[in-house]
Amino acid sequence: MRLLDEGLQLRQWPTRAVLRFDDFERLDGRTLRARGRAFRLPEEIAQAVRLELDWVAPRGGLEDARAAVGQLLSRPHGARRTAERLLSAAAQLGASDVHLEADAGGWAIRVRLAGDLHDLARASAESGTRLVAALKGLAGVLPYRSDVLQEGRIPRSGVCADVRASFAPTAMGERAALRLFGRLLRLGELGLGPGVLDKVERALEARTGLMLVAGSTGAGKTTTLYAALEHLARTRRGAHLSLEDPVEQRLRVAGIPVDQIEIEPSRGLTSGALLAAALRQDVDVIAVGEIRTPADARLALEAAHTGRLVLAGVHAGSPAEARQRLVDLGADPALLDAALRGVLFQELETVDCGCGAGCERCRGALRVRRLRAELQLGEGGAR
Ligand SMILES: [Zn+2]
Repeated sequence: MRLLDEGLQLRQWPTRAVLRFDDFERLDGRTLRARGRAFRLPEEIAQAVRLELDWVAPRGGLEDARAAVGQLLSRPHGARRTAERLLSAAAQLGASDVHLEADAGGWAIRVRLAGDLHDLARASAESGTRLVAALKGLAGVLPYRSDVLQEGRIPRSGVCADVRASFAPTAMGERAALRLFGRLLRLGELGLGPGVLDKVERALEARTGLMLVAGSTGAGKTTTLYAALEHLARTRRGAHLSLEDPVEQRLRVAGIPVDQIEIEPSRGLTSGALLAAALRQDVDVIAVGEIRTPADARLALEAAHTGRLVLAGVHAGSPAEARQRLVDLGADPALLDAALRGVLFQELETVDCGCGAGCERCRGALRVRRLRAELQLGEGGAR
């Protein structure tokens, strides 16, 4: 009998079979039943199986997650299951990112909650390295390479929609950063506030024109663009295309009929080239993750003036700055104002939860995020 990542391998009965952990039912400490047969296990294996059967993603806050992940890391086997469970524990906690960093004494595992990084666990050099290799395997990159940059994606279901994984060599060895994407939010779930939500929904009824989503880095612009695309895909027929750098969550996986193209200048897929192609692709709605270059600005305006609704992210500190940013990129002010349906400006604030001791809302992090948004309607919307 041998312990595998996914279960137990039996040498004799009925042949060389693998029984999955899910197949087992516990009779007593060392006796388990699977497929109608009872097995008396050696204590070491029984203990590992008990850990498997008893594990549930921690439902409490940071302290619960620390205890659960610490227990996971104490197991001598099953790096792949440990990796999956680390992710589900982080997702259950509501973390946006998980970091694994090699340092002098092993590995630090940290999670980002409401914008702040918190220590989650420490792993030994050996178990941390195996865990990171398992994460690479899940992400579809080369598990044995730790000397190159690698980017991958871990498709998931249930608590966590999708994970983007990035691995980088460091002076101490390596670091891994995993971005966890939760369920895609609808417009009504963003926390825009009722006055703003109504106006955004009305602005999105336009068939043509330009709608900007403005804010600084980390203000949640992509989340808002996805919610707007979900709204448009649900409320109107048509061909919807989204140009992103990088694609954060795959919308079709979530049942949202929007084609996403990743901007990749090394393959000629610049935002300008993709926007020009979008004009020839007979699409009704075009989303651009961020307008960065003069070509982006010019082509987005051209699309907005030729029968498309264009949604675009803009890096800006205020609504007025968003418009000015496009003008700085060479957009003709008159053409811009004639196309502009509105500027949704948003900020993500981190505020004290106010509970003092950890609660359901902050999950023990004591701080929570709050969206502040305002919509300025443009002249293009008044026509
Ligand atoms: Zn709280």
